[in-house]
Amino acid sequence: MFDAYLIEKNDGGSQSVRQCQLEEKDLPAGDVTVRVEWSTLNYKDALAITGKGPIVRSYPMVPGIDFAGTVEASSHPDIKVGEKVVLNGYGVGEKHWGGLAGRARVSGDWLVPLPSAFTARQAMALGTAGYTAMLCVQALQKQGVTPKSGEVLVTGASGGVGSVAVMLLSKLGYAVTAVTGRMEEKPYLESLGAKEVMPRQFFDSLTRPLEKARWAGAVDVAGGKMLASVCASMLPYGVVTACGLAAGMDFPATVAPFILRGVTLVGIESVNCPKAERLSAWQQLAELIDQKQLEDVTSEIAFGNVIQAAEDLLAGKVRGRVVVKVSG
Ligand code: NAP
Repeated sequence: MFDAYLIEKNDGGSQSVRQCQLEEKDLPAGDVTVRVEWSTLNYKDALAITGKGPIVRSYPMVPGIDFAGTVEASSHPDIKVGEKVVLNGYGVGEKHWGGLAGRARVSGDWLVPLPSAFTARQAMALGTAGYTAMLCVQALQKQGVTPKSGEVLVTGASGGVGSVAVMLLSKLGYAVTAVTGRMEEKPYLESLGAKEVMPRQFFDSLTRPLEKARWAGAVDVAGGKMLASVCASMLPYGVVTACGLAAGMDFPATVAPFILRGVTLVGIESVNCPKAERLSAWQQLAELIDQKQLEDVTSEIAFGNVIQAAEDLLAGKVRGRVVVKVSG
C-alpha cells in the first residue's frame, strides 16, 4: 500500500480530490514501475487538483505531472531496476496516473535519467517549471539572442518558471528585467540576478500596437494582454518565448510587432517535447543551476498539504517552486 491523491468525478460532473491508499495492482499499464520519492506542484497540477482548469482527461486520476524516484520493476530494454529517473509531462497527471503517489507505472520511453548533478529533490525543485524555463532560454539562444543583443524580460517572475528563467538568464550573462505583480518580491528577484524589477501594472497600461522598443528577448508565462504588450515592446528582431497562460488564454495583439519590427514569437511546449531536446535541457540545467540558489527558491511541503498548497499557488501566494516529499 502507498499514499496517493485521487481525483474523482462526482455525479453531476464536478470533481473532488482526496488523499487515499492504493495498491500496486491499482496502477495503470506500463513497462516501468517507479518508487516515487519526490514530486512537485506546478501551475497545471494546481489547476488539476482544484478543478479550476480542464486538465484531467480521464477519471479517476492521480495528479502530478512530474516525479523523481527509483525504478522498482522494469521490462523496458533501456531502464534498469535501481536506476534513478525523472518524469516530466507526457500527459502524466492528465490522462495517465501521475507523481503524487508512492508508486507510478509509466512507459519507460517517458523517463529520463536523473542527472548526476541533482538529487531527486533538486530535480523536482526544478520540475516541469524549471525544465520549461530552460526550453525558453534555449529557444532564445537558438534564435540568436545573446547578452549583447540587449535586455531580456521575464514575466510572472516570482513564480516557478519565472524564478528559474531569471536565474538561468542572469547566469548566462543577460541583463534581466523581472516583471511581477508582487513588488514586495523585488529583493528576492534581485537575489536571483534581476538587474531591474518592474510592476505588472506597467504592462497593463500599454495599449498601442507598437510601444517604445526595449527588449531583445522575453520569456512570457502570462499570455493574454501581458503577452500582447510584451510583443509590442520588443526591439526590432526581438524574440518572445510564450509558454504560459497565467493571465489568460487570449492574445489580444496586432500583427504590427511581427511585420513592422520583425519580432519572432516562439511557442514553448514541454509535455510532448522530443527526448533529445529534454535531455539537452536537463544537461544545460545541470551545468547552469546554482544549488544554493535553487534551494533558496524552493519550499518543501508534506504530502498531506498538497491541496492547500494548490489553492495557494493559484491565489498567487506561492513564491518560486514547491517540492512534495512522497513516502515510498
Ligand atoms: P506559478 O508558479 O503559479 O507562476 C505563475 C506566475 O505568474 C505567478 O507567480 C505570478 O507571478 C504570475 N501571474 C499570475 N497571474 C498573473 C496575471 N494575471 N498576469 C500576469 N502575471 C500573472 O506557475 P508556473 O508553474 O511557473 O507556470 C507558469 C505558466 O506557465 C502557467 O500558465 C503554466 O501553465 C505555464 N507552463 C507551460 C508549460 C508549457 O509546456 N508550455 C510548462 C510549464 C508551465 P508574479 O506574482 O511575480 O507576477
